[in-house]
Amino acid sequence: MSSTEAQRRKLRQIQEVAEGWGKLLAREAFPGGPGLDVSLTEMEELAAAASKAMVRGAIETLTGDQAEQLPKEVPCPVCGRSCGLQRRPRPIKVRGGEATLDEPVAHCPTCRRDFFPATSDVED
Ligand SMILES: [Zn+2]
Repeated sequence: MSSTEAQRRKLRQIQEVAEGWGKLLAREAFPGGPGLDVSLTEMEELAAAASKAMVRGAIETLTGDQAEQLPKEVPCPVCGRSCGLQRRPRPIKVRGGEATLDEPVAHCPTCRRDFFPATSDVED
């Protein structure tokens, strides 16, 4: 099985799980079923809001898991000094909404610069 095939299979599996969550959400929002006064637009708005929340939860969890894999100290990309890694919340736009990354950032006291080890970008 190719990795592309495995990825497609995994994606289908995730979509099935998410569809199941959609059904649970429907029951959570309308335990007795929606009344006849509930419009399709209202149903769609509810589902879209839940979808945005799910994107946020997934992105924040996955990027947080990646950050956990980074070492406690990283070398400054300018001078090479070993600098402690900390986390700083950073709001970002993602497809379908917004998320807050718990972004790993290090500060080099020698260069007086922050840098981000994941991309080695240097911030002024
Ligand atoms: Zn430095």
